[in-house]
Parts: sequence; structure tokens; C-alpha cells
Amino acid sequence: MLTAIVGINWGDEGKGRMVDLLSENYSVVCRYQGGNNAGHTVVNERGRFVLNLLPSGILRPDTVNVMGPGMVIDFEHLTGEVGRLRAAGVSVTPDNLRISDRAVICMPYHKLLDELEEDRLGDARFGSTRRGIGPVYGDKYLKKTLRVGDLYNLRDVERRLPDLIGWKNLTIHGGYGHAPYTPEEALAWLRAYALPFVPFICDTTRYLTEAAKAGKNILFEAQLGALRDVDYGIIPYTSSSCCLSSYAPIGAGIPGQKLDRTIGIMKAYSTCVGEGPLTAEMHGPEADRLREAGVEYGAATGRPRRVGGFDVPASRYGILVQGADEIALTKLDVLSYLDRIPVCVRYRIRGEETDRFPMGVDLSEAEPVCEYLPGWQCDISACRSFDELPAAARDYVAYIERATGCRIRYISVGADRDAYILR
Ligand code: GDP
Ligand code: MG
Repeated sequence: MLTAIVGINWGDEGKGRMVDLLSENYSVVCRYQGGNNAGHTVVNERGRFVLNLLPSGILRPDTVNVMGPGMVIDFEHLTGEVGRLRAAGVSVTPDNLRISDRAVICMPYHKLLDELEEDRLGDARFGSTRRGIGPVYGDKYLKKTLRVGDLYNLRDVERRLPDLIGWKNLTIHGGYGHAPYTPEEALAWLRAYALPFVPFICDTTRYLTEAAKAGKNILFEAQLGALRDVDYGIIPYTSSSCCLSSYAPIGAGIPGQKLDRTIGIMKAYSTCVGEGPLTAEMHGPEADRLREAGVEYGAATGRPRRVGGFDVPASRYGILVQGADEIALTKLDVLSYLDRIPVCVRYRIRGEETDRFPMGVDLSEAEPVCEYLPGWQCDISACRSFDELPAAARDYVAYIERATGCRIRYISVGADRDAYILR
């Protein structure tokens, strides 16, 4: 069984939390796109963990975790992340972590370029996490990157570096006027941070193909949500990779296989880190209240997240492009304090109402058309069955299910592994 767990909204829907829960029945968990711009928070009996690069299956002792060819990997960051996990007693070895030889290395100069460009843009910045992700994907498509498998032959890398970095300095030094980066710095960095991971390198296509043939269950974990996808998201406030389910087998390393099931993770309200349109956005004390209730601060960057009511047009679109078969609705418990719950049901664009999710200027100019549903105003975090939920909470779930047209199978009512309801 090949299953993808993907985000329906702007990211931070609780994908890590759901992967941690659902990975119980899977032997392999793969990350298939992005880099350490992700922030997945997982809370279980072993503690509270923030994962940026590693698949969320790393916390289960018998799960094999794959970092696929669709990823971009900053080995300095990975060194820190693995170190923190080991310090907490989690074992990370070549037995439970396989890094694709085809994945791309995110170099320190990619991070530098990300910083330089966001600073140049000033108020018009994209809201990048400044971790080099945009620049390294750009270079990938220009075919000017180092890949993980290149570490097998550092002498060849050393031969290629002067030309590669000379070309980068046309921008770093020639364009931005920053001090040039040097091949020596790059080589020292690779030796310090990347070479220790050589034992983890793997032909993940071969590994996953054999695992699938042997009937093993494989889970694909997306980073970021549908609205951050580089093709279908809110350009330019997107990530630079494809975070849709249909890319999962490609980005993970098993491109010839089709998914059996896609689980969309959808939040009971809206949140967004960084810039760009958020039609259902709340402001002032109303927003502060929701942000505090949901503890909405970026796991990767600590930035306060923008918040708003549930957005039907955006979520229906997210479900469409993800091809979700079923939904896990997360953070329903967060809404418990509200006496009435706003839901954005349509957009008004220059006076005209639509239930379509538009692009470009139409989206920037869209205003929310809201309906208000009655709140339940009691703690639901201990509920473990649908019937235990107060009627207003059941009605809210049913309303969203009807409005988005996709079955809600899981309802999460807390950050802990077992704080959920299976419907
Ligand atoms: P991801 O990037 O999609 O993995 O999501 P994040 O980890 O960035 O953000 C989700 C946050 O909500 C994390 O801090 C989780 O621990 C927390 N969380 C997940 N599900 C629930 C839930 O149902 N209720 C509450 N209160 N918190 C949750
Ligand atoms: Mg996150």
C-alpha cells in the first residue's frame, strides 16, 4: 500500500502529527520534496520534537526513513537535527535513515543568496524562510548543483567546484556586491558536514522498488500545503518544489508506482506563515486570541502565524489539486473558546461573489463572505469518539465536510499522538 499524507492549506496543518500517528502501519516513511524549511512538530511518549529535514517516521524504532531525490539537503542543518534527536535518545543510523544519492545538496551559498534577495526585495519580500530553498531549486533546474551521490567522489567535486562557484560569484559578488564565496570554503563545509553522512547514502529507487515488491507499506510525507505548491499555489508566496500527492512517488524515488490512497491534512481554521493573500484573515484582538489558543508560531522559524477562519474555496481547491480521498481535520479543540465560529464560504471579487479559488490579482482583491456557526464552548480534548463531541462540534465537522465535498475520517483534538477521533 502506497499512501501520501499531504497538506490541504498553507502548511502547518499538523502533517507531522498525523504521520507520527498513522506511520504505525507503515514500514517506510519518505520525504519527497523541500528541505529544512519544513517544521513538523511531533508530540508522543518520547517527548516533543521539531523535525525539519527528517521524515516523521524517525521517531518509530522499526521504521525506515527515506529522504528522496526530490529533496534539497543542507547537511549542516541535518547534522544539528540528528544530533538533537540522538541527545534525546532517538537512534539515527544507516539502518533507519536512507538518503537518496540523487537528492540535491543545499550549500551555504544558497542560504546566503536567499538572504541577499529577501533583503533586496525589502517590503516586497516573498516571506522566504531564508534557508536557501528557492536558490537551490533554481540551480537544480539549471543543472548546476551537487548531488548527494557526488560525495562518493570528492576529488571530482573538488575539480568541479571552481567553475560552479565562479559562476555563483557572478551573482553573489558581481550582482549583490557581497564578498565572494570560495571553493575552499565549500570543500571544508562538505568535509565537515556532508561526508559523515556517506554511510547513509542509498539508491532509494532500488530500495523502494524492492520494498514495494515485498508488499511493504510505504508512506509519503509532504512538507508544506497545497497552496504553497510551486505550480498550483499562490505564486510567488509558494515554496519552490512540488508538494502535491501526485509528485510523491517521483520525489521519493519510486516514479513508476501509483498511490493507493491520499490523506489530506486540513486545519479547522486558517493559518499562514509569511506573506501573500489570506482572504479569511483575522486582525487585532480577534486574531491574537486564535493565535494564542492554537499556539500558532512557526515551528521552523518561530514567526507568529497569521490566522483566520476556515476558508472553504481555498480548502476545496486544496482537496482538488491533492486528489485527497479522505481528510484528517486537525486542531478542532482550538476553536472551543468561540461562541460563534466564522467560516469563509465564498469570495467577493470586485462586487461579484464566487466559490472558485482564483489566482493573481483576483485573489489579492478577494474579500471573504462569511457565515457563522454556533460554537460549543467546552473542552473537547478528551473526546475519543464522534458521539462524545458536543452537537455543535459535530455540526461544524459535518458542515465543513459538506462544503468541501471530501470525507473527514480523522478528527484531531490535541497534539498528543492519541488525541484523535476515528470516524
Ligand atoms: P506540519 O508542518 O503540518 O507538520 O504542522 P506543524 O507541526 O508546523 O504545526 C501544527 C502544530 O499543531 C504543532 O505544534 C502540533 O503539535 C499541533 N497540533 C497538531 N494537531 C493538533 C490538534 O489537533 N490540536 C492541537 N491543539 N494542536 C495540534
Ligand atoms: Mg509546519
